[in-house]
Parts: sequence; C-alpha cells; structure tokens
Amino acid sequence: MSAAKVRYNKKTIALVYDFDGTLSPKPMQEYTVLPKIGQKAKDFWAEVEQFAASHEADAMHIYMHLMYKKAKEAGIRIDRKDLVSLGAKVELFPGVKTWFDNIEEYVRLRAETGIELRHYMISSGLKEIIEGTHIYPRFHNVFASEYLFEAYDLPFPKRVITDTNKTQFLFRINKGIEDLTLSINSHMPEEERPIPFANMIYFGDGETDVPSMAVTRKNGGHAIAVYPKRKSKKKCQTLYEAGRIDFFAAADYTRGSDLFGRTCLLLDKIMADIRVSEEKWRLTRTMSRR
Ligand SMILES: [Mg+2]
Repeated sequence: MSAAKVRYNKKTIALVYDFDGTLSPKPMQEYTVLPKIGQKAKDFWAEVEQFAASHEADAMHIYMHLMYKKAKEAGIRIDRKDLVSLGAKVELFPGVKTWFDNIEEYVRLRAETGIELRHYMISSGLKEIIEGTHIYPRFHNVFASEYLFEAYDLPFPKRVITDTNKTQFLFRINKGIEDLTLSINSHMPEEERPIPFANMIYFGDGETDVPSMAVTRKNGGHAIAVYPKRKSKKKCQTLYEAGRIDFFAAADYTRGSDLFGRTCLLLDKIMADIRVSEEKWRLTRTMSRR
C-alpha cells in the first residue's frame, strides 16, 4: 500500500447502552415472559434472589433457569421465535425510537468525513427478546444473555451476561474482536485497537453498570447514567459523586432533552479529540519520513 493511502483509522465512535432501566423502564421479562406464564414480577424476582442466595448461585443464571422452569410448570411452551415476537411488547423510554436518527444527524452535521458512529448494546437481559424490539436493527452489535434450545428438556443458558463480565464486551468493541468464538485475552497494543475507549460513551442506570462505567472511564472513555423522569435520581447522584460518570439526566431521549444535550456535549469533545489525535498522527508520520 502506498503511503498516501494510509489514513488515520481511529475515527469510529461507539455509544454503548445497557438495556433494562436505561432504554426501557422495567426489566424486559416483565413486559414479555412473566405475564405470559402468569408470574407476578415482584414474586418472581424475590424467588430468584432467595434461590440464588440459598445456593450461593449467580442470580443471572438462576433467573434464566427459573423462567423456563415456571413456564414448564404452567404447561406453556416458549420457543426462540416466541421470545423474539414477545420483544415487541417491551416499552421504551420517551424518545428512544427517534434517538438514533437524531444523534446520527448531530454527528453527521458536525463531523468531518470519516467519522463513523455505532450503537452497541450489552445487556444481562435476553438476546431473543431484544431481537424482537423495534430498535434492534439500529445496533451494530448486541451482546446479551441467550438460551440454547436444543439441550435437555429445558432451554439452557448458553451465554450469561453479568455485571462484571459485561466489561469483556467493552474490550471486544475496543479491540474489534466481536466474534464470540475468538478469545479476547491476547495482548493487543493500544495503537492497534480500532475503537479507543476515549471514543466511547457508556449509558447505564445504576449499580449493575458500575464495572462497565469504571472500565470505560478509567481507560479514558465517558459514561452517562439515567433515571426515570419524575422518579428518584439518588442512584445517579451517588454515581456522579463517586466519579463513576460524566453526567446524569432523566431517561428522556427526545431531541433537546438534558440527556440529548449532555450526550452531544460529550460527542463534541470526542470529535475534537479525534481531530487532535489525527493531527498528531499526521505530524508523527512526517517526522518519520525525514
Ligand atoms: Mg440496567
């Protein structure tokens, strides 16, 4: 390749979202599977918690197991395609449906050519349900828990995403290793990583996002927390005071909201930093040619 064709290649910005409580008011199971199998959300989660505590088990594994155990007890069969079609019932926060177009337009109007904006989701919820939501096609990739439907007589969790292993997927985005069959652990020098953490904004809603927020921020990235409008913002204030996030705002994704404005402010910063890094890269190359 001739030198003239080599371009600065760290111009992809990643907006990374949690789902439950961040893009949607309630856990996705409460709009979908739980009503279908006649379970009250409060009772179900209490049972998950109790079961997990008594077995010293991970609550994420237990909810995935109990959900199908309860469905079986109720004599209700839920295949993968049923889970996907239930996804249409999931409620989203105000403005989420138009957010993607609005944010993409904001970047397009301000960024010089070559900036690519991507949306990613990392969720402990179910990939199958997320696939059924209207916003699924807007994501470059969705990392979420998922079932294997062939194993035994109960669907078996084939991937369980917990608070802490969410961070694995941030590194997958960072290193460009999104194929889950490939290991993420081999060393990759910073300069070879296609999406630096500095080009990321992580969106979450609470304690379960702390590991992801910490990894993103400690590596030079950004984080925003949201709370449901007209409800308590205490969790967000705690995160802000602890230095876990850059900003917090009500989960109102409409153009002109505080959340929209603060996200755009961080995007302005990221785009300016990309220009600075690109110029430094260009300068370094002229030095090496002498
Ligand atoms: Mg959440």
